[in-house]
Amino acid sequence: MSDENAEKTESASPTGVEDSQQGGPGERERGGPHAEADGHGAPDKSPKRTEEHDQPKRAEVSNYEIVSHWFGEAAERLELRDDFAAVLRSSYREVQVQVPVKLQDGKIHVFSGYRVQHNGARGPYKGGIRFHPEVDLDEVRALAELMTWKTAIVGIPFGGAKGGVNMDPKKLEAHELQGATRSFMNKIEKVLGPTRDIPAPDVGTDAQVMAWLMDEYGKLHGHTPACVTGKPIALEGSYGREAATGRGVVYMYREAAPLLDLVPSETRFVVQGYGNVGSWTARIMEQLDAKMVGASDASGAIRSEKGIDAEALAEHVSKGGTLRDFDGVEAIDPDELLEVECEVFIPAALGGMLHKHNASRLQARMVVEGANSPTTPAADEILQDKGILVVPDLMANAGGVVVSYFEWVQNLQHFRWDEREVNDRLGRIMRTAFREVSARAREDDVPLRTAAYALGIERVVEASRTRGYIS
Ligand code: NAD
Repeated sequence: MSDENAEKTESASPTGVEDSQQGGPGERERGGPHAEADGHGAPDKSPKRTEEHDQPKRAEVSNYEIVSHWFGEAAERLELRDDFAAVLRSSYREVQVQVPVKLQDGKIHVFSGYRVQHNGARGPYKGGIRFHPEVDLDEVRALAELMTWKTAIVGIPFGGAKGGVNMDPKKLEAHELQGATRSFMNKIEKVLGPTRDIPAPDVGTDAQVMAWLMDEYGKLHGHTPACVTGKPIALEGSYGREAATGRGVVYMYREAAPLLDLVPSETRFVVQGYGNVGSWTARIMEQLDAKMVGASDASGAIRSEKGIDAEALAEHVSKGGTLRDFDGVEAIDPDELLEVECEVFIPAALGGMLHKHNASRLQARMVVEGANSPTTPAADEILQDKGILVVPDLMANAGGVVVSYFEWVQNLQHFRWDEREVNDRLGRIMRTAFREVSARAREDDVPLRTAAYALGIERVVEASRTRGYIS
């Protein structure tokens, strides 16, 4: 990203967070109003993407601005003391490292790696690692903060963290990816560990990457499976972890469905982002008899009124096929995906995909946020005006970290639950979270997102205060 793109632009939305006229990842605003005022110092000017790439449009409002907006609104509603809010807005620790990798062209390419620990009052820091060309410090900050509130909402004993490297794993050979992963772990291992901070998969990383991270950590500290979650089953991973975030999204749909008189067999759904979260959500929805009528990923979008076989599509993609090549579907422009008629829309790609300039096109009755920060505040207002029920990321996609918690617990005790046990326990936690958040929403007469932030923040404030971290 060029420096001019990193420059601050004026914001004029009623929410205080605005989308620009032109969507497009290269045009996203960075280092906006949060830059000095909230205790985070100067905006991130670190090296950004190493290569340009074409993708469907995203809002240019950053993930950080989205999360800051919701935090600010909740802090005001809760009448949180300004000094407490200042502590909770900024990160406890931010580590930035260089990740040099020699690529096929014979040259060393230097990527930037980050690990941000937002708040550890409730337990060790926990959060995924993202490999994606657009990763930067602000995005990682935002995602780390989300993890703080998320772990509090589902009541598991962790704080919030996130990490990432601004490289495109799809463009690296396996040995290059392994080298970069090990190099990243080498640089950040001092702030990690089973009682300090435990990474997990996120966009662009998977069980294989977690295995390399564990192995590299083990070289320095001895075999320590609880240092990373989302590992392969062969390396003390937990049954059910790979599908956990998608399964959690489906548990949330099931809890919310009666509010709209929806039953699975009459539910058509659309998935934006057919990766880990999106494809598992789709496969589990399909097991309930719901029908997928649209899907997209970074390569394009498809639709079919007759229904798309979610299991077969996942297999097709895992073998290297693209969505557009899949039999019996109509290829559409990614922007048209929102116009596919359905009951449930599931964003499961990147942040800011539902924004001011496309939210009014959405043809769904419910949005269940599989992705983190997929909806900008301006889009959220539009969805509310349209009467669309939004189940927010903070609880909707918490299934992954819940089963990561189970994996950590199993690793620390060196035993293993079967998949049914994992899924049942996950269901209990997700249902409790939905009921607590929706009770709070009714009590305060606010949307689920506002209620979720309030609950999460209150729990973290209580822990921080009791510990003596803030007083
Ligand atoms: P992934 O890398 O497995 O999948 C991401 C998918 O999004 C890919 O199919 C990619 O092609 C697609 N995509 C990228 N850009 C797109 C665009 N512009 N339009 C449409 N599709 C696009 O990642 P994932 O782990 O499934 O994560 C997806 C989202 O879920 C992220 O926001 C992540 O933070 C969130 N999340 C993931 C987990 C987890 O356990 N993996 C847990 C909680 C939240």
